[in-house]
Amino acid sequence: MFDKILIANRGEIALRVIRACREMGIQSVAVHSTADSDAMHVRMADESVCIGPPTSTQSYLSIPAIISACEITGAQAIHPGYGFLSENANFVQIVQDHDLTFIGPTADHIRTMGDKITAKDTMKALGVPCVPGSDGGVASLEEAEKIGKDIGYPVIIKATAGGGGKGMKVAQTAKDMKSAFQTARAEGKSNFGNDEVYIEKYLTTPRHIEIQVFGDGKGKAVHLGERDCSLQRRHQKVFEEAPGPSITAEERARIGKVCADAVAKINYIGAGTIEFLYENGEFYFIEMNTRLQVEHPVTEAIFRQDLVREQIRVAAGLPMSFGQDDLVIDGHAIEVRINAEKLPNFSPCPGKITQFHAPGGLGVRMDSALYDGYSIPPYYDSLIGKLIVHGRDRPEALARLARALGELIVDGVDTTVPLFHALLQEPAVLSGDYNIHWLEHWLDENLQA
Ligand code: ADP
Repeated sequence: MFDKILIANRGEIALRVIRACREMGIQSVAVHSTADSDAMHVRMADESVCIGPPTSTQSYLSIPAIISACEITGAQAIHPGYGFLSENANFVQIVQDHDLTFIGPTADHIRTMGDKITAKDTMKALGVPCVPGSDGGVASLEEAEKIGKDIGYPVIIKATAGGGGKGMKVAQTAKDMKSAFQTARAEGKSNFGNDEVYIEKYLTTPRHIEIQVFGDGKGKAVHLGERDCSLQRRHQKVFEEAPGPSITAEERARIGKVCADAVAKINYIGAGTIEFLYENGEFYFIEMNTRLQVEHPVTEAIFRQDLVREQIRVAAGLPMSFGQDDLVIDGHAIEVRINAEKLPNFSPCPGKITQFHAPGGLGVRMDSALYDGYSIPPYYDSLIGKLIVHGRDRPEALARLARALGELIVDGVDTTVPLFHALLQEPAVLSGDYNIHWLEHWLDENLQA
């Protein structure tokens, strides 16, 4: 096992990894930009290294600075968290070239899944059901128009390198194709340096269902059920739950096995998420994320497993500590993402926290790097905390969420907490009867500026 791990991240996810390290008796090293000298992850880690100025490209994304920090501190492995360098195959290669261990999948797997066209081809070949669409990349508008006609409108044009909801455009009818095609290409080029796009049938009322998988890198893999992340704004998740209110035990076992078998076949190592759209009882693969997800705690809650501990174990060459038969669902969990954002426009709202009080009690977990007097810097993501609740069933989890949100105090900046108070009054949310468009419609009707 490693003696020392460096965490190439910040915020709540850095704390998450530091906590796992501490429980395992492993020393932790935080890295930080000059804007984060007072950040909680720096305070909580055993050691810290300043790796550059506030701009991410010169600090959290600076590969030389991070490798140097490992060399200075003697860290043997790097946990990337999510975002930043977590899905950068080049980084993984450089880490290995320096005889360090990357806590995550191989560079090859990251590369394969990071390109959505290659990912889809790979998954199709592994027997995973996919959204109908173009066969690979679409090079010209004429070709795009022909595909639109063949598969039928509406369609969605996606940048193969896209992510975080960027590089995706819907064409409702043939008339929209030209601008959707050109915009998706332009966004792919400017955000990801790759203008290749492909086309999928646009599903009109699907749910977003993702399967958590975990592999040992030696041909063994399990699934940890699904998460329903259908409540989204601009393709970004805001509320996640497990198990999915619409998924039966039979469906879970079936799609779970397809996913576990697929990743076992490619000797996948560590945590991964296979994302699907789910409509009329059918699953359609959209992408695979080769890292720990923001919403992993809901899965941890219902399976009583520590996914970060498990990532560290398999990276160190140890066997997985659970098999498929050990994974039995216990109750229901919900996570809400608390962002420092001002409603109704969700504009980022950095600033000084004058008071912070985290909720507690039975079945409540608050993952946050906030503290009284902390100043949220304006340079990074607006996620400031995740509130996760666990109950014996969905109604209990919902009641607990309402109770815990009532206890939470974040003063000094605007947050998305009022959104969740309002959502918990909605019959559709209470009954679990929503799809990926529900929240956008609700926001249009209820939060007009
Ligand atoms: P990203 O990598 O940017 O997260 P994804 O491919 O995972 O992009 O898609 C993000 C979200 O976009 C999905 O959760 C869903 O809401 C929507 N989406 C993607 N593909 C489709 C599709 N074919 N039909 C309808 N909605 C889609």
